This record gives sequence, structure tokens and C-alpha cells, in this order.
Amino acid sequence: MKVPLLDLKAQYESIKSELESAVLQTLRSQKYILGPEVDILESAICEYLGCKYAVGVSSGTDALLVALMAIDIKAGDEIILPTYSFFATAGVVARLNAIPIFTDIDLKSYNILPEDIEKKITPRTKAIIPVHLYGQCAMMNEIMELANKYNLKVIEDAAQAIGAEYKGNCKAGTIGDIGCFSFFPSKNLGGVGDGGIVVTNNDELAEKIKILRVHGGKPKYYHKIIGGNFRLDTIQAAVLNVKLKYLSDWSKKRQRNADLYNELFIENKLASGIGETNFDDENRVLLPAALYKGMGLEFYHIYNQYVIRVQERNKLRHYLQERGIGTEIYYPVPFHKQECFLYLSEKFGRFSFLNAERAAAETLALPIYPELTQEQISYVVETIKNFFQ
Ligand SMILES: *Cc1c(COP(=O)(O)O)cnc(C)c1O
Repeated sequence: MKVPLLDLKAQYESIKSELESAVLQTLRSQKYILGPEVDILESAICEYLGCKYAVGVSSGTDALLVALMAIDIKAGDEIILPTYSFFATAGVVARLNAIPIFTDIDLKSYNILPEDIEKKITPRTKAIIPVHLYGQCAMMNEIMELANKYNLKVIEDAAQAIGAEYKGNCKAGTIGDIGCFSFFPSKNLGGVGDGGIVVTNNDELAEKIKILRVHGGKPKYYHKIIGGNFRLDTIQAAVLNVKLKYLSDWSKKRQRNADLYNELFIENKLASGIGETNFDDENRVLLPAALYKGMGLEFYHIYNQYVIRVQERNKLRHYLQERGIGTEIYYPVPFHKQECFLYLSEKFGRFSFLNAERAAAETLALPIYPELTQEQISYVVETIKNFFQ
């Protein structure tokens, strides 16, 4: 049996005629940049997330970059973020000559550790970027409390978490000052190329982001500020408008798949429960925690990734690969160990983030996409069981 990490073809086949007619309509309209489809997408995203403004942009990375530009991040400003995330979270900070201040993660959720944040706050700290990694919200109450106490901005990196809910029913991306999403094809809501969106409830920030999106010009060719080309293509918006209708259904299927994995791992005695953080004879596989499950939320976790931890991770990955099962490591190298950030350890002393380092050595993402069948999931668990026998 073959179980790819992600099978975008299965999704495409299920909505093929709708997608193709939306793309064809865009081609025939000759409107390729921004345009009516982007306006429709922005309104639909506001409605889906329950926020006031959404601004379509060129990628998730540019969403983060333009968000930092909108809050006037300048050279030397310090931005606190988890050391364990996709590169863009830290890359955008360094690109503005600001300083990424790394913090460790919580080993249950893989999200930023709130108690590590306060220790890192200095008079130069301007913002915190919590990442809702793998599709589950970071501990936003604690983060917002710190932000209010120290007058910091919060930019949520919700690239992996569209639709994920936090306590109190608010959705990822709408809790901080600005939320950033990615429409990279492998995200839960993926385009047919690069794309992203920035959301906010703040009138001034929304207006500024719209101006920054078109090189900072308003009116056109008159520049009070310097922006960039952060525009979203019409064709991406047309595709996303079709797909957004199915997003909740797909997220439910991802949750169903995660539940089935959890059940099977427990049934097969590879794990004793979800959210365990220590290995022992009853927990050779550590299952991902669902921190907000049972709080009455529909989308407590949207499983952009279903990530387990195992001790012989690389060996298991190879074993699965030989048996037709695709996996990935998100992420093998935390930021503080990246060559491009070594200059920061010269300034701040040698870093040691033990949780992030453990995660980098032990995490493995299994296939979780909505169209996965029960047989495929059983085969993955069965194969992992055989590996440990
Ligand atoms: C995907 C992703 C991004 C970047 O999004 P792109 O659209 O690929 O630029 C940023 N942060 C996180 C956590 C991501 O997963």
C-alpha cells in the first residue's frame, strides 16, 4: 500500500469542475492582479474568522513581513518568537534588521512557552510572534497578558492554523494585533501557487497594510511610506474562493483521522494516552496533545500536521519510506542552531533550548490529509508497530 504524506490530487479530483471553471473565468476576465475575486476572498475570510479586516497578500512570508512593517519594526528592535517553527517566522524579522529573540517551546503542544517570554523582555522588545504550530493555538491568554503588561504588539503566525479555535471561541489569527495566514498549496487552505492573507480588527493597521501591499503608494505613485509588491493574484483568490466552502469539512476529516491514529496507537499499546511527554514501555510513541479538546470547540486543532515523537526517529522514517509511507520532519534544525543565526549567539551567549532540541530530534509528521482512508491509517500504525517489534 502507498500512503503519501500529502495527496493534493485526491482533493483536486473532488472539486475539479468547480476549480477549473473558476480558473477559466479568471483567464477570460483578463484581471490577474488583486481584482474582484480578491475582494470576495477578503470578505469571506473575515466572515469565516470573525474579524473586521482581511488583506490578501503574496505569501504567508509576506504576510508576516508586511505585518511587521505595519507596526513599524525597525533595525535593532527585538521580536520574541519560538526557536522551533518554519524559517519564515524568524527570517522576516532578520530581513528588517530587527533581532529575533528565541524562546523555547512547550513539549506538549510544540508552541512557544509563555514563561520563557517574560524573561526575554527588554526595553527594546517591540512584539511577540506566537506560532500556532501544526494547527493548534498557542497559549494566547498568557501571551496577551504579557503583551498588555509590557505594551507589546502580538503578530500571530497562523500559517498552519486557519480555522483553529482558542478558548472563548475566537479563531487563530484574530486574537493578537495582526494574524498572518499562508495559502501555500500544502496548507489546509491551499492555492495553486503562493498566496497569503493578513487579518486585523484595527482600522489603522488595516489601512496601512493595504497601502504597504502596493509599494506604500496612496494615491498611486505618491509615497509617504515604503512598502513592497505584496499583492495576491486574482487566480489564487478564485481558487481559494472555491476551496473555502469546503475548509470546515476538510478540517473535520483531519480531526477524524487524528482521532483514529490516536485510538489505533493506544489499542496497539504503542501509547498509553494522548499528550504524554516521556518515553517508557507503554509510550514508545508520544501522541500529539489536543489542549483545547473538550472545551466545546469544534476546531480545537485543525491538524495541518499530525506529529508524533519517537526515539529512533530517523530509523523509523527510513523504515516507513521503504514501505511506501511518506513522512516529514518539521523541523530538523531549530532557529538557534541555524548557521545564518549564529551571529546572535555571539551577541547573546550560547543558546540552549532543550525542548526545541528534543523536538527537532524526535518529531515525525505522519500523513493526515482529509482524503486519507481508514485502511491507510491502519497500515501506517501497523507498520510502526512492526518497526518496534
Ligand atoms: C508556511 C508557513 C509560513 C510561510 O508561508 P509561505 O506562504 O510559504 O510563505 C510561515 N510560517 C509558518 C509557521 C508556516 O508554516
